[in-house]
Amino acid sequence: MDFPERFDVIVVGGGHAGTEAALAAARMGSKTLLLTHNVETLGQMSCNPAIGGIGKSHLVKEVDALGGAMAVATDLGGIQFRVLNSRKGPAVRATRAQADRQLYKAAIRSILENQENLQIFQQSADDLIVNGETVEGVVTNMGVRFFAPSVVLTTGTFLGGVIHIGLDNHPGGRAGDAPSIALAKRLRELPFRVDRLKTGTPARIDRRTVDFSVMTEQWGDTPTPVMSYLGSVDQHPQQICCYSTYTNEKTHDIIRGGLDRSPMYAGVIEGVGPRYCPSIEDKVVRFADRDQHQVFVEPEGLTTNELYPNGISTSLPFDVQIQMIHSIKGFENAHIVRPGYAIEYDYFNPQDLKASLETKHINGLFFAGQINGTTGYEEAAAQGLLAGANASLRAQQKEAWSPRRDQAYIGVLVDDLITLGTKEPYRMFTSRAEYRLVLREDNADLRLTEEGRKLGLVDDHRWAVFSEKRENIEKENQRLASTWVLPDTPEADRINPKLKNPLSREYSLMDLVKRPEVTYSDAADLKGEPVTDDPQVAEQVEIQIKYEGYIARQQEEIERLRKNENTKLPDDFDYEGISGLSNEIKAKLQALRPATLAQASRISGVTPAAISLLLVYLKKRD
Ligand code: FAD
Repeated sequence: MDFPERFDVIVVGGGHAGTEAALAAARMGSKTLLLTHNVETLGQMSCNPAIGGIGKSHLVKEVDALGGAMAVATDLGGIQFRVLNSRKGPAVRATRAQADRQLYKAAIRSILENQENLQIFQQSADDLIVNGETVEGVVTNMGVRFFAPSVVLTTGTFLGGVIHIGLDNHPGGRAGDAPSIALAKRLRELPFRVDRLKTGTPARIDRRTVDFSVMTEQWGDTPTPVMSYLGSVDQHPQQICCYSTYTNEKTHDIIRGGLDRSPMYAGVIEGVGPRYCPSIEDKVVRFADRDQHQVFVEPEGLTTNELYPNGISTSLPFDVQIQMIHSIKGFENAHIVRPGYAIEYDYFNPQDLKASLETKHINGLFFAGQINGTTGYEEAAAQGLLAGANASLRAQQKEAWSPRRDQAYIGVLVDDLITLGTKEPYRMFTSRAEYRLVLREDNADLRLTEEGRKLGLVDDHRWAVFSEKRENIEKENQRLASTWVLPDTPEADRINPKLKNPLSREYSLMDLVKRPEVTYSDAADLKGEPVTDDPQVAEQVEIQIKYEGYIARQQEEIERLRKNENTKLPDDFDYEGISGLSNEIKAKLQALRPATLAQASRISGVTPAAISLLLVYLKKRD
C-alpha cells in the first residue's frame, strides 16, 4: 500500500547517524520520517558505552554547535567525564564520557519523540523506489510504500551483516538484531561500488565476579567537564569509577593457541578491520614483542552489573575467550555475560558521494555513517547531521551546504571520505586536520552556530545562549585590552609574585595574560570584575589571547589556500590533454574528477607541481 502521507525526508536507520539526520531535517522544517527496525534500539551503542575522545569529541561538539542531540544526551547519560590531553595545547584537548547505555538511549529517544515535524515508524526498509536516476521513496518489509524527494540511508553494520565467533558465523546486524539482507541486495543492483569491512567487540563481564582490589582505579576529572555547550554538571547522573588491568604472557599464549580457529586468521573474514581499534588477537600478532596490553574496565551503566573490558575486542572461539579472560589479573573468576564477536558488513565507496553526502548516481539518495566506511558513533552522528540537513535543503529546493576543512572536523571527515575514499574503517584523529589550532573543541560553537542558525538547525534557546556568550567574550577581551596596571600599585604588588620580572611599566590586563607565567584567572580581577563568571567565556578569552600569534598565522594560511578552494575544476576538464602530468596522476584525476583545485591537491600522489600545471591550463582555458 502507499502510505497516505508524503514526507519531505525519509531517514532509514535509528542509530547515531540516523537520529541526527532525522532531527536535523525536522529542525529545518522538513516533514520527516525515521524508519527503523526497532524503536527500542534508537540511539543504541553497539560497542563501547563511551562518547568522545581524541578527534571524536571535536565532532560531538560540532554536532552540538549545530543543534544536534549527541552531546546533550551524553550530559544526561554520562557516568564519568574526563578531559584527555589536558596538559597539552587546546587543539588536541578532548572530552570523553563514559555513558550509561540505558540513560543515553532514553535521552535520545525522548529528544526524537518530542521533535516537531518528526514521525517514527518501526519497520525494515527492504527496497528503494527509484525512477530513472532519482529516488522517490522506500518500501518496507510489509510492502508499505513511503514517498519523499530525499532519502537518507544510515544502515550501520546491518547491510549483509554476518556475525563471527570463532569459525561459527550467522547473519546478524549486531548481536541480537537481524541484518538487512533485502536492502543490501537492492543496493548491489545500483551502480555503487560496494565492498566489505569488519569490526569487533569484546565479551561483557559480570562485575560481581571481578576482583577490583588488584586493579588500578580511574576516577573522572574534577571539576567535572560537560559535553554540550548548553550542558551543566547538575544534569549528570551519579559519577562512577573505572578500573584498569593488563593482559600478560599467559593471555598471549592462549590467544596464539587459538589463532587457527580465529575467523580473521583462518581467512573466513574477508572484510578489513579498524587499524586503530584492533582486536586483541591482532594486537598480539602485530606487536609480538609486547608482554602486556592495557585493559580498561568500564561499567555499562548505573543499574546493571555488566562491564565493558575495553581493549580486548575479539572474535576468537568462545572457549578461547573464557580462558583468555580468566588469565587476566582481576578476571580470574569472571563470568562472561555476552561473548565477544566480529561483524562483517557491506559499505559503499564514499568517493561515489558529493560533499553534501548525496550519492553521485542516484539523485536525492544520501548515505551517512558506517555505510560510508567510517567507524564510531561520533563520525556517524556528524555525517548524519550533514546528510539530514542537505536532504532537507534538497526537499526545499535550496543549495546544498557542507563545511570546509578549515571550518570544521565535519568538513575534514567528509572531504577525506569523498576525495580519498577508504579501504579500512575510517576514524577521526586530530592529526587528520591541517588547521588544528583553529578547529578546537572549545570553539566549535563560535565556528558553526551562526551557520547552523542560518540553516534553521539552531533553535531560539541555543541561539540566545550562544549570542550572549559571544558578546561576553568580545566585551571581556575589550575590558582586558583597555584596563591598565601601573607599577608600584596594590594591583602590581598582587601580580608581581607570579611574574619572572616585576612590572616596570604599565601593562594592560591583556598583555599580562599573554605572558606564559600568567593565567587568565591571575589577571582577570586585578582591576575590576570580569564581565561574567561563565567558565566557557573565561576559557575562550584565555585561549584567544595566549595563542593569538599562532592562530593568526594559521588564518593567513587558510586565506591563502582558500583561493584554491574557490578555483573550480570544470566537470569536462581534459586531464589527458595536459602534457607534463604523469599517467598515474592523469588517471587519478580522470577517475575522481575533483570539484576544486584544493580537492585535487588532497588526492594522494597529486604533487604541488601537478597543481601548478593544472592552474596554468585552467588559465589557458579561460
Ligand atoms: P548503527 O549504529 O549500526 O545503526 C544502524 C541503524 O539502522 C540501526 O538502528 C538498525 O536497526 C537500522 N537499520 C539498518 N538497516 C535497516 C533497514 N533496512 N531498515 C530499517 N532500519 C535499518 N565503533 C568504534 O568506534 N569502535 C569500535 O571498536 C567499534 N566496534 C564495533 C563492534 C561491533 C560489533 C559493532 C556492531 C559496531 C562497532 N562499532 C565500533 C561501530 C559503531 O557501532 C558504529 O560506528 C556506529 O554505531 C555507526 O552508527 P550508524 O548510525 O552508522 O549505524
